[in-house]
Amino acid sequence: MTEPILDIRGISKSFGALRASNNINIDLRAGEIHALIGPNGAGKSTLIKQIAGGLRPDTGSVHFDGQDITALSTAARARLGMGRTFQISSLAMEYTVLQNAVLGALGHRGDVFRFFRPVMKDAGLLATARASLEQVGLEEFHDARVSELSHGQRRQLEVAVALTLSPKVFLMDEPMAGLGAEGSHRLMGFLDQLRHKAPILLVEHDMDAVFTLADRISVLVYGGIIATGPVEDIRGNPIVQSAYLGE
Ligand code: ADP
Ligand code: MG
Repeated sequence: MTEPILDIRGISKSFGALRASNNINIDLRAGEIHALIGPNGAGKSTLIKQIAGGLRPDTGSVHFDGQDITALSTAARARLGMGRTFQISSLAMEYTVLQNAVLGALGHRGDVFRFFRPVMKDAGLLATARASLEQVGLEEFHDARVSELSHGQRRQLEVAVALTLSPKVFLMDEPMAGLGAEGSHRLMGFLDQLRHKAPILLVEHDMDAVFTLADRISVLVYGGIIATGPVEDIRGNPIVQSAYLGE
């Protein structure tokens, strides 16, 4: 078996009396989509935040590409190749598709254009931004404002922004949310390809998408992982069915 590129070891996190993460072990290996499923409030987003660096675990560690990154900031993790898309969109709505991609390539998420217009003339940043837009099929829309894009196109743009930093892994928290059938279908096709470039830890509610895309599934209930395994095993697991799938 290949070494995991992302290895979460024994993470726990409490908010007051609430144990949002309870001794979680999960890993991600080359080429795979590992889906994380569980009911609302199970702790999926809390776990993703601890892996991305926005939230510090109380105990446990995060290993990425052979390195213990538990103490590193979100920005440092992104520079090492941890890509992510957000449950709440981080796009700058009033800016264009290309400007958002350039912001991504800069590693900034804030409103820097007002102060720093020359970045839009930086040939290296522009080339990176355009290449990422091309990879997600948004190159024709580079001059459109984000506010003019469909939900599906915004999701594609979020992935393009993440791609500007050449991620080695992707963390995605409910990327299908708010997409119609067609948008979901297109995004699924895209993720199916993307996994070969960078494996994906995918939090997703849409079970059809999960069962179609995932190589492995972990089931989170009340902050703890109750099962991990290949899709067929999880689908047929009676504990999973009663605890989560409601069957
Ligand atoms: P999920 O993404 O699986 O729906 P979350 O990770 O968002 O669940 O939340 C897990 C639990 O932790 C919920 O009960 C939520 O209310 C609580 N929670 C999340 N973030 C915080 C926080 N910053 N402070 C207090 N409680 C929080
Ligand atoms: Mg969530």
